[in-house]
Amino acid sequence: MRATVMFGAGDVRIENIPDATIIEPSDAVVAVSRACICGSDLWPYKTMEHSDSGRRMGHEAIGVVEVVGADVRAVKVGDLVVLPFAYSDGTCVFCHEGLPTSCVHGGFFGTGVMDGAQAEAMRVPQADGTLFVLPVGKDDALMPSLLTLSDVMGTGHHAAVAAKVAPGKTVAVVGDGAVGLCGVIAARRLGAEQIIILGRHAGRIALAREFGATDVVSRRGEEAVERVRALTGGFGAHSVLECVGLEQSMLTAIGIARPGGAIGRVGVPQDESMPASLPAFYNNITVSGGPAPVRAYIEELLPDILEGRIEPGRVFDKVARLDEVPDGYRAMNERDAIKVMVEI
Ligand SMILES: [Zn+2]
Repeated sequence: MRATVMFGAGDVRIENIPDATIIEPSDAVVAVSRACICGSDLWPYKTMEHSDSGRRMGHEAIGVVEVVGADVRAVKVGDLVVLPFAYSDGTCVFCHEGLPTSCVHGGFFGTGVMDGAQAEAMRVPQADGTLFVLPVGKDDALMPSLLTLSDVMGTGHHAAVAAKVAPGKTVAVVGDGAVGLCGVIAARRLGAEQIIILGRHAGRIALAREFGATDVVSRRGEEAVERVRALTGGFGAHSVLECVGLEQSMLTAIGIARPGGAIGRVGVPQDESMPASLPAFYNNITVSGGPAPVRAYIEELLPDILEGRIEPGRVFDKVARLDEVPDGYRAMNERDAIKVMVEI
């Protein structure tokens, strides 16, 4: 079968590899019909050291269950399923607490150890706890939005939950990538009154406005902080969604948070230490967030997609076939595309 393998920075290839198979009785093999390229795939695309064996890529997918192991009960061959970016058993203490990304039998796809989703098929561990059976057909027009339940919509929602977004609150979203845009959807969905998007790309800003952003700040650094303060009566935002993960974006997030406010961070931090610790302390700012437990959010978000209340699939502005995936990485890395959907 064919799969996406990264061999080093800027070196993504479609390779012929051995077919995905069942290894553990709790596994399933899923034939991938749609996958994505993620902003987080761009970090290794920029920095990965050369590897002769390479790393399987991709962690977002919709597909059809092709084979199930002997212990699998909740999914069956032929089911159309959405795959969260992390696998989980659905039964341990953390899964019961709504944090499947900390599952004691869990892990992450497309990290080098596990199969990746930018492929014709993949092995899915803990199939019963991981896969979510979709109540639609494979060609349903809602497919792009359903695909965002794998990661970006659940991640934007997690940022909003961690930032304590609630009706009537003022929200600021740092980052105009797919997660930031889904964060705007999530903030509106949770009843925010004012939603300020920080970003500079005209097409992304336009989409953010359609998703519910009420204000746009296109400046950076200290100027951005001043502008957000001016828009919020001088106080800052109750809730800040940090959807980038760089030192500068975290500095901005802390700078624009209102005293007593909360930051939900979902951009994978690229630094060991957290910047602006002192202002965060003196302003009593809660800094929360982490890898989104997207599996736990699917049931809550799915009805809004099925009934057309939210359309997160609009973040896909480029479609690629599997053999076009390397060009998809280039397009996202050069910010020619917000997010690439892969049709397999
Ligand atoms: Zn678990």
